[in-house]
Amino acid sequence: MSTVYLVVPCYNEEAVLPQTVSCLVDKLNRLIAAGKAEKSSRILLVDDGSTDRTWELIAGYHAENPLVSGLKLAHNQGHQNALLAGLMAARERADCAVSMDADLQDDVEALDQFLDQFAGGCDIVYGVRNKRETDSLFKRSTAQGFYKFMHLLGVDIVYNHADYRLMSRRALDALSQYKEVNLFLRGIVPTIGFQTGCVYYDRRERAAGESKYPLRKMISFAVEGITSFSVRPLQIISNFGILISIASVLGLLYALISYLAGFAVQGWTAIVCSIWLLGGIQLFCIGIVGAYIGKIYNEVKARPRYIVEALLERREQDGLAAGSK
Ligand code: UDP
Ligand code: MG
Repeated sequence: MSTVYLVVPCYNEEAVLPQTVSCLVDKLNRLIAAGKAEKSSRILLVDDGSTDRTWELIAGYHAENPLVSGLKLAHNQGHQNALLAGLMAARERADCAVSMDADLQDDVEALDQFLDQFAGGCDIVYGVRNKRETDSLFKRSTAQGFYKFMHLLGVDIVYNHADYRLMSRRALDALSQYKEVNLFLRGIVPTIGFQTGCVYYDRRERAAGESKYPLRKMISFAVEGITSFSVRPLQIISNFGILISIASVLGLLYALISYLAGFAVQGWTAIVCSIWLLGGIQLFCIGIVGAYIGKIYNEVKARPRYIVEALLERREQDGLAAGSK
């Protein structure tokens, strides 16, 4: 039997948290009763600098139930960093950790299969969605386009897998060695290696509250994923540049011939169009290069990825409440 930590990042989730906690507590109790998880297993709720009552709720649940632990980050650091904070806390306490969202979109009943595969020797188990019917058509098609594009760029990510995954302690130890500030866990985890498995589940609609991933955040998350794992866009734009240069040489030849043949002057439209087109292309390419330079800038600064403000936990040996600040 193993100590399992369910790591749940929460950002302004007061609307859904009561439901989530009761569902997870119920599930964990059943896993413990079935002998699949040790009594020292915990639900670790990571408050990612929420501005609503999320942390008060977490503290309340912790006081009521020893199975609930809480980790409060000093500031909103984003989903990926909050997840990392939780996983790194779990790493020192658990045999394996399962990360999942706070909105109950990930089917908790799939946990049995995660633990079965872990017991069978897998160090990493990916939760993969069967279908995406609960997502809007827009989210579904953009997400699928993103996976395809990532594969095209040669990045190894698991199709239709979000952040519902199990990692063993040694996989978490390996993850702790990745020092990058620009975190894209879905891309990093497959590079760790070890024996891996997949669990298929149906993803539901958010139980309550609103999505914390508006279009703006979705786009920056996708750009983050691409620029963190592939320099191919840089190669593509240089190839593109070569192509344009060849085309411009041909254009030059044409201009020269028409001048010599005596039918020049005309062609103002062509000149103006090409100036605008090339200007646009150049700015776009500089933008891509800039995105990479920006990342180097962030990596070089190597600021902490998260700062823990408080930890609420009751360990087996503590018996009574032992909140540490
Ligand atoms: N989240 C977070 N920090 C943020 C944004 C989101 O910890 O800055 C958490 C959020 O509370 C949820 C998970 O990340 O548990 C996924 O967010 P959400 O369900 O809103 O995204 P969606 O499923 O709509 O893509
Ligand atoms: Mg969600």
